[in-house]
Amino acid sequence: MKVAHRAIAKDGTEKYLVELSDGKRVECVLIKHKRTVCACLSSQVGCAMKCAFCATGRMGFTRNLTADEIVGQFDLMERESGVKITNVVFMGMGEPLHNYDNVVAAIRALQKKGLSWQKITVSTVGLPEKIRQLGRDVQCKLALSLHAPTDELRSGLVPVNARYPLRDVLAACLDFPLRRKSELMIEYVLLAGVNDGDEHTRELIALLRQIPFVVVNLIPYNPVEGIGFARPSLESAEAMKAALIKAGFKTFIRTTKGIDASAACGMLSVKKKVVPA
Ligand code: SF4
Repeated sequence: MKVAHRAIAKDGTEKYLVELSDGKRVECVLIKHKRTVCACLSSQVGCAMKCAFCATGRMGFTRNLTADEIVGQFDLMERESGVKITNVVFMGMGEPLHNYDNVVAAIRALQKKGLSWQKITVSTVGLPEKIRQLGRDVQCKLALSLHAPTDELRSGLVPVNARYPLRDVLAACLDFPLRRKSELMIEYVLLAGVNDGDEHTRELIALLRQIPFVVVNLIPYNPVEGIGFARPSLESAEAMKAALIKAGFKTFIRTTKGIDASAACGMLSVKKKVVPA
């Protein structure tokens, strides 16, 4: 694999467009925090899940990445950036649990490189049996791309919800072995006027009361050309955060780092222009 394009933002975030040996392209992102350096890796070329707000979903599914191609993104970014990566999130292009065997092999390879299980997070839209299998096969952290508090709303945003409704997905998350110091991360992309109202906040709080040990990441949407969703105001994001905290949930608003690169699982598209900040 080789770097087709590299863009570096003012805050140090690095976004890589990587060309694979068959000419297919995926993106991966290096995000620098104060004490950690996080690699956001892709697991597939495109994605079959077709989430309504996602640029990758629009591409459709092309193929799975091999374990070597997944770990190769990690190696490539360490080599190109010259910094040591401390954390990995599977939040790039693709649904990691839809490429289960290769992702598990990649996790094992990353652990052999010295990353502990607490430093590796797999983000999924919620494939119940694969969540349970992951919990049996490897140690890692889990993130659920929730994005809506009811089946009705979620099925419109995350089509796989029609097959695996919230009740089944949450039951699988409860079966996932959340070990000491490991919370279930809930990712919730905030779409203006769609899932960010007071009623959604109330429904979300009621839903999350069923799952102990969650940390909520609210992710204001980064608009993508041709996809009809808008970013909410900071006020509405802050209001939801305050209500969740008042209800007892650890909650953060994910700040957009650098190149608008890694908002949620796979909001990346090789068709999207890579713009240096
Ligand atoms: S949000 Fe994630 S699971 Fe959904 S289409 Fe995009 S890459 Fe696939």
